Amino acid sequence: MRDPRYDILFEPVRIGPVTARNRFYQVPHCCGMGYRYPSSSAAMRGVKAEGGWAVVCTEEAEIHHSAEVTPYLENRIWDDQDLPHLRALTEAVHAQGGLAGIELVHNGQHAANHYSREVPLAPSHRVIDNGAPLQARAMDKTDIANLRRWHRQAALRAREAGFDIVYVYAGHDMTVLQHFLSRRHNERTDEYGGSLENRLRLTREILIDTKEAVGDRCAVAFRFAVDELLGEDGISAEGEGREVVERLAELPDLWDVNVSTWQNDSQTARFAEEGYQERYIGFVKSLTTKPVVGVGRYTSPDAMVRVVKQGIMDMIGAARPSIADPFLPKKIEEGRIEDIRECIGCNICVSGDEVSAPIRCTQNPTMGEEWRRGWHPEAIPPARNRERVLVVGGGPAGLEAARACGQRGLEVVLAEASGAWGGRSLHESRLPGLSSWGRVKDWRLGQLHKLANVEMYLASRLTAEDILGYGIPHVVIATGAAWRRDGIGRNGFRPLPGLDGTAVFTPDDFLGEGDGLDRLPEGPLVVYDDEGYVMGGVLAELLAKTGRAVTLVTPAAVVSPWTDKTMEQPFVHKRLVQAGVTLRLSTLLTARDGDAVDLACAYTGAPARLDCAALVLVTSRRPRDEIYLDLKVREAQWGESGIESLRTIGDCHAPATIAAAVYAGHRYAREFGEAIDPDVTPFRREAIRVG
Ligand code: ADP
Ligand code: SF4
Repeated sequence: MRDPRYDILFEPVRIGPVTARNRFYQVPHCCGMGYRYPSSSAAMRGVKAEGGWAVVCTEEAEIHHSAEVTPYLENRIWDDQDLPHLRALTEAVHAQGGLAGIELVHNGQHAANHYSREVPLAPSHRVIDNGAPLQARAMDKTDIANLRRWHRQAALRAREAGFDIVYVYAGHDMTVLQHFLSRRHNERTDEYGGSLENRLRLTREILIDTKEAVGDRCAVAFRFAVDELLGEDGISAEGEGREVVERLAELPDLWDVNVSTWQNDSQTARFAEEGYQERYIGFVKSLTTKPVVGVGRYTSPDAMVRVVKQGIMDMIGAARPSIADPFLPKKIEEGRIEDIRECIGCNICVSGDEVSAPIRCTQNPTMGEEWRRGWHPEAIPPARNRERVLVVGGGPAGLEAARACGQRGLEVVLAEASGAWGGRSLHESRLPGLSSWGRVKDWRLGQLHKLANVEMYLASRLTAEDILGYGIPHVVIATGAAWRRDGIGRNGFRPLPGLDGTAVFTPDDFLGEGDGLDRLPEGPLVVYDDEGYVMGGVLAELLAKTGRAVTLVTPAAVVSPWTDKTMEQPFVHKRLVQAGVTLRLSTLLTARDGDAVDLACAYTGAPARLDCAALVLVTSRRPRDEIYLDLKVREAQWGESGIESLRTIGDCHAPATIAAAVYAGHRYAREFGEAIDPDVTPFRREAIRVG
């Protein structure tokens, strides 16, 4: 039963000619599927509607080949060829009672047009913003007329494809409309440049065109970045952002407001708290009677009620919370708040888009697998037989394997060596800014405690001997991995000389029960990051808090390079500089030598030395697979012990992200009892049409 406090979240909202059944609004978000994996995309969006989201939007949909963002996989609505794909999506959403929205876009100078080879278009001659050595050409009046026509045609096609909400998009510094609006990008002297009203002209025209074209049946939403977080150089909530809302107040049927760029809009939990955009978008509702939607990684229904009651927004916009838990609205509606799988704010979902691969999520292992594997986020078929499974290790992989096996009705025993559940999701959540990563274990523990068929034992460090003695037929080893102490990493392929007998640490010394901070000697610290994701940077930040001089050395050209895929890299750099960490980029660490380390330029090999009282090696990890190897050696004894299957999963199989460990645990449970043929692709593939 729903808590009456949350009734307000289930009130219908009128948006122009359509009505949303409640206030839950999945704003447009990328998913690395787009035009390339349309069946996957339709199924994923359909599941969101099934989970109760009243509005489910696409990612951006390119309206024309003059602005296409290859290699990124967004949607396309260039011509009628795209309609069957898009119709599949609207039908999937409608079948579950949702409204389908499409975010039409012309990316202007943000699009390199690597595929179409068209010259990019912009308000003024500008270097395109993705680093390619290309310039966009200043649009003349014919180009402007063309753009208006393309947008109108795309809106008509969107209506034909069954969309209920059609977007006009001026956000994220990625769209030609925002480029026209911006003084930074627009140096025109005609009626489309100069004054704000002139810079706004094209947006106004396209809003009117879209309403005239499809406004009888479709709501027209305007997605607008009210603040670019650039101070005087940009649109701001106190300045032109506010003026734009004043000038267009009643023109769109809905305001979808946020901050720009996408990096700022989708900040990770490490850099922005839940609801942090309220201070920017809070004014919008006072200037329009039209519904307002905004985002802020809201996962708590109390926070959602607050933002509605405080008049900050009418609809709760969500991308990431809807990815981590597509059934979030249903769970609130059914009074199952404790079942909400809360987003941890890690942006692994974004990394899918960044590498042009289907979306994945740390918390939700079924995300992106709805169509190709037929995985549902809530349901999992019961196992054929009530067999017994022993899961060794209670980190993300082990917890998820035990939970999902338990959900399938298997008899599960889960054993964890330490005195606490969670493995790295517990340990890493103690690092600066990563407390929400603990939600990975929290949600799984909450679910496990409800399962009477799962026995859970802490302080149980198992050996191969123990396991042979238990006679549990199916054994899955999820004992994680340990950071290497020899310096072998991405660039270091042999052990570093000089490491014996000196103060050498790894992340494990600062995680879990590690007492690394207490053992650090006085003097300068060197963190050597040859791994490249979050650990090197976050440890440097932790160590800087001890007041010692910290230098982060990395062979990469930027600090924490893979955080680029989670859109955090500039924030990491800024935070480390602000914490007083010295950065030595493009630098290899070649040896430890007493109270110093030897360095070499990663490009020229030019040597250098750096004082170093203690060295922290963040290089790579080694699976903790001793039990597995021991059991494999004793395979002859399995029969008499009753062991039928043995597997490793997660970091113990191959160290990777927490997302990969959760996925591995889930996959183990899904595939339990199935014969896996390694010669057969284990998922459905999207068809490729010839000709
Ligand atoms: P993953 O990300 O793959 O889940 P983690 O390192 O987070 O890996 O978790 C592994 C867990 O396994 C840790 O909590 C660790 O304490 C536990 N573990 C390691 N060795 C044993 C063992 N021999 N018996 C039981 N648990 C173990
Ligand atoms: Fe949230 Fe991380 Fe999942 Fe993205 S990947 S939805 S940020 S938990």
